[in-house]
Amino acid sequence: MKNLYSTQFNISHIEPATHIYGPGRRFAVWLQGCSLACKGCWNKEMWSFKANELLDRKTLLAQILAEQDIEGVTLLGGEPLEQAENTVWLIQEIKRLTSLTVMLYTGYTKPEIEQKQLWSAVEANVDLLVSGRYQEQDRNTNNQWYGSENQELIYPKKSKIEQRSKRLNEVEIIIEETGEVRVLGYPS
Ligand code: SF4
Repeated sequence: MKNLYSTQFNISHIEPATHIYGPGRRFAVWLQGCSLACKGCWNKEMWSFKANELLDRKTLLAQILAEQDIEGVTLLGGEPLEQAENTVWLIQEIKRLTSLTVMLYTGYTKPEIEQKQLWSAVEANVDLLVSGRYQEQDRNTNNQWYGSENQELIYPKKSKIEQRSKRLNEVEIIIEETGEVRVLGYPS
Protein backbone atom coordinates (compact mmCIF):
# COMPACT_ATOMS: atom_id res chain seq x y z
CA MET A 1 0.00 0.00 0.00
CA LYS A 2 1.39 3.41 -0.97
CA ASN A 3 2.37 5.80 1.74
CA LEU A 4 -0.04 8.75 1.96
CA TYR A 5 2.64 11.16 3.07
CA SER A 6 5.57 10.25 0.80
CA THR A 7 8.68 9.52 2.90
CA GLN A 8 7.01 10.76 6.07
CA PHE A 9 5.51 8.39 8.59
CA ASN A 10 2.18 9.34 10.09
CA ILE A 11 2.90 8.72 13.77
CA SER A 12 0.48 8.34 16.64
CA HIS A 13 2.95 7.91 19.48
CA ILE A 14 6.57 7.05 20.21
CA GLU A 15 7.82 5.40 23.39
CA PRO A 16 11.63 5.28 23.24
CA ALA A 17 12.06 2.70 26.00
CA THR A 18 9.32 0.23 26.82
CA HIS A 19 9.47 -3.35 28.12
CA ILE A 20 6.12 -4.91 27.32
CA TYR A 21 5.96 -5.02 23.52
CA GLY A 22 8.45 -7.79 22.87
CA PRO A 23 11.59 -9.02 24.59
CA GLY A 24 13.89 -6.59 26.38
CA ARG A 25 13.96 -2.80 26.32
CA ARG A 26 12.51 -1.59 23.02
CA PHE A 27 11.87 1.56 21.02
CA ALA A 28 8.15 1.41 20.18
CA VAL A 29 6.39 3.36 17.44
CA TRP A 30 2.59 3.46 17.07
CA LEU A 31 1.72 4.37 13.50
CA GLN A 32 -1.39 6.42 12.81
CA GLY A 33 -4.10 4.95 10.56
CA CYS A 34 -5.85 1.57 10.41
CA SER A 35 -8.70 0.51 8.10
CA LEU A 36 -9.48 -2.81 9.79
CA ALA A 37 -11.91 -1.51 12.43
CA CYS A 38 -11.76 -4.52 14.76
CA LYS A 39 -14.67 -4.59 17.21
CA GLY A 40 -13.38 -3.74 20.69
CA CYS A 41 -10.12 -2.17 19.42
CA TRP A 42 -8.32 -0.33 22.23
CA ASN A 43 -6.67 2.13 19.86
CA LYS A 44 -9.61 3.67 18.00
CA GLU A 45 -7.94 7.08 18.08
CA MET A 46 -5.34 5.52 15.75
CA TRP A 47 -7.85 4.58 13.02
CA SER A 48 -7.88 7.94 11.21
CA PHE A 49 -5.46 8.43 8.31
CA LYS A 50 -5.50 12.23 8.78
CA ALA A 51 -2.03 13.61 9.42
CA ASN A 52 -1.29 13.39 13.14
CA GLU A 53 2.46 13.76 13.61
CA LEU A 54 4.35 13.56 10.32
CA LEU A 55 7.96 12.47 10.71
CA ASP A 56 10.39 11.80 7.90
CA ARG A 57 11.57 8.20 7.92
CA LYS A 58 15.21 9.29 8.10
CA THR A 59 14.46 11.34 11.20
CA LEU A 60 12.75 8.38 12.84
CA LEU A 61 15.69 6.14 11.96
CA ALA A 62 18.09 8.69 13.50
CA GLN A 63 16.02 8.76 16.71
CA ILE A 64 16.18 4.96 16.91
CA LEU A 65 19.93 4.90 16.28
CA ALA A 66 20.47 7.52 19.00
CA GLU A 67 18.62 5.55 21.66
CA GLN A 68 21.01 3.79 24.06
CA ASP A 69 20.67 0.29 25.48
CA ILE A 70 17.73 -0.96 23.48
CA GLU A 71 17.42 -4.54 22.32
CA GLY A 72 15.08 -3.79 19.48
CA VAL A 73 12.32 -1.83 17.82
CA THR A 74 8.60 -2.60 17.87
CA LEU A 75 6.20 -1.19 15.27
CA LEU A 76 2.51 -1.21 16.07
CA GLY A 77 -0.53 0.96 15.62
CA GLY A 78 -2.70 1.66 13.92
CA GLU A 79 -1.60 -0.55 11.07
CA PRO A 80 2.11 -0.54 10.09
CA LEU A 81 1.36 -2.40 6.84
CA GLU A 82 -0.82 0.49 5.68
CA GLN A 83 2.37 2.57 5.57
CA ALA A 84 4.28 -0.29 4.02
CA GLU A 85 6.75 1.51 1.77
CA ASN A 86 8.21 3.43 4.69
CA THR A 87 7.87 0.48 7.03
CA VAL A 88 9.89 -1.78 4.73
CA TRP A 89 12.51 0.94 4.25
CA LEU A 90 12.83 1.48 8.02
CA ILE A 91 13.13 -2.22 8.84
CA GLN A 92 15.73 -2.78 6.13
CA GLU A 93 17.79 0.20 7.32
CA ILE A 94 17.64 -0.98 10.95
CA LYS A 95 18.82 -4.40 9.81
CA ARG A 96 21.55 -2.96 7.60
CA LEU A 97 22.96 -0.62 10.25
CA THR A 98 22.40 -2.36 13.58
CA SER A 99 21.96 -5.70 15.30
CA LEU A 100 18.61 -4.64 16.80
CA THR A 101 15.67 -7.01 16.52
CA VAL A 102 12.43 -5.82 14.94
CA MET A 103 8.95 -6.84 16.02
CA LEU A 104 5.80 -5.75 14.20
CA TYR A 105 2.10 -5.96 15.04
CA THR A 106 -0.37 -6.23 12.19
CA GLY A 107 -4.08 -6.98 12.00
CA TYR A 108 -3.52 -8.78 8.70
CA THR A 109 -3.18 -12.56 8.61
CA LYS A 110 -0.30 -14.52 7.09
CA PRO A 111 -2.28 -15.45 3.93
CA GLU A 112 -3.27 -11.79 3.45
CA ILE A 113 0.32 -10.63 3.99
CA GLU A 114 1.69 -13.10 1.50
CA GLN A 115 -0.55 -11.79 -1.29
CA LYS A 116 1.39 -8.52 -1.40
CA GLN A 117 5.03 -8.13 -2.26
CA LEU A 118 5.75 -5.24 0.11
CA TRP A 119 3.99 -6.93 3.00
CA SER A 120 5.89 -10.14 2.32
CA ALA A 121 9.10 -8.10 2.48
CA VAL A 122 8.07 -6.96 5.95
CA GLU A 123 7.44 -10.54 7.04
CA ALA A 124 10.79 -11.68 5.67
CA ASN A 125 12.77 -8.96 7.45
CA VAL A 126 11.28 -8.81 10.94
CA ASP A 127 12.23 -11.07 13.85
CA LEU A 128 8.71 -11.48 15.18
CA LEU A 129 5.36 -10.73 13.61
CA VAL A 130 2.18 -10.64 15.69
CA SER A 131 -0.49 -11.23 13.10
CA GLY A 132 -4.29 -11.25 12.87
CA ARG A 133 -7.29 -9.10 13.82
CA TYR A 134 -8.08 -8.37 17.43
CA GLN A 135 -11.18 -10.44 18.17
CA GLU A 136 -13.03 -9.23 21.21
CA GLN A 137 -14.62 -12.65 21.88
CA ASP A 138 -11.16 -14.23 22.00
CA ARG A 139 -9.61 -11.62 24.28
CA ASN A 140 -7.11 -13.01 26.77
CA THR A 141 -5.12 -10.59 28.89
CA ASN A 142 -2.85 -13.38 30.16
CA ASN A 143 -0.86 -13.83 26.97
CA GLN A 144 2.37 -11.86 26.93
CA TRP A 145 2.63 -9.60 23.84
CA TYR A 146 -0.76 -10.27 22.24
CA GLY A 147 -4.39 -9.63 23.01
CA SER A 148 -6.66 -12.26 21.44
CA GLU A 149 -6.20 -16.01 21.14
CA ASN A 150 -6.60 -16.10 17.34
CA GLN A 151 -3.51 -13.94 16.81
CA GLU A 152 -0.44 -15.74 15.56
CA LEU A 153 3.17 -15.13 16.62
CA ILE A 154 5.31 -15.75 13.55
CA TYR A 155 9.09 -16.10 13.82
CA PRO A 156 10.53 -15.95 10.29
CA LYS A 157 13.47 -18.21 9.45
CA LYS A 158 16.17 -15.59 10.08
CA SER A 159 14.64 -14.45 13.38
CA LYS A 160 17.10 -13.42 16.09
CA ILE A 161 14.40 -13.52 18.76
CA GLU A 162 14.45 -16.80 20.64
CA GLN A 163 12.18 -15.84 23.50
CA ARG A 164 8.62 -17.18 23.34
CA SER A 165 5.49 -15.57 24.75
CA LYS A 166 4.61 -16.57 28.32
CA ARG A 167 1.32 -16.71 30.20
CA LEU A 168 1.63 -13.26 31.70
CA ASN A 169 -0.27 -9.99 31.96
CA GLU A 170 2.19 -7.13 31.73
CA VAL A 171 1.41 -3.48 32.34
CA GLU A 172 3.98 -0.71 32.30
CA ILE A 173 3.63 2.58 34.14
CA ILE A 174 5.89 5.39 32.98
CA ILE A 175 6.31 8.44 35.21
CA GLU A 176 8.05 11.36 33.50
CA GLU A 177 10.13 13.97 35.33
CA THR A 178 7.29 16.40 34.54
CA GLY A 179 4.92 14.22 36.56
CA GLU A 180 3.09 12.95 33.48
CA VAL A 181 1.99 9.33 33.98
CA ARG A 182 1.34 6.90 31.13
CA VAL A 183 0.00 3.36 31.45
CA LEU A 184 0.92 0.95 28.65
CA GLY A 185 -0.63 -2.45 28.14
CA TYR A 186 -4.06 -3.83 28.88
CA PRO A 187 -4.93 -4.19 32.57
CA SER A 188 -7.49 -6.99 32.99
S1 SF4 B 1 -5.77 -3.95 13.59
FE1 SF4 B 1 -5.23 -3.17 15.61
S2 SF4 B 1 -5.45 -0.92 15.49
FE2 SF4 B 1 -6.49 -1.82 13.70
S3 SF4 B 1 -8.63 -1.95 14.36
FE3 SF4 B 1 -7.66 -3.96 14.75
S4 SF4 B 1 -6.96 -3.82 16.88
FE4 SF4 B 1 -7.38 -1.74 16.20
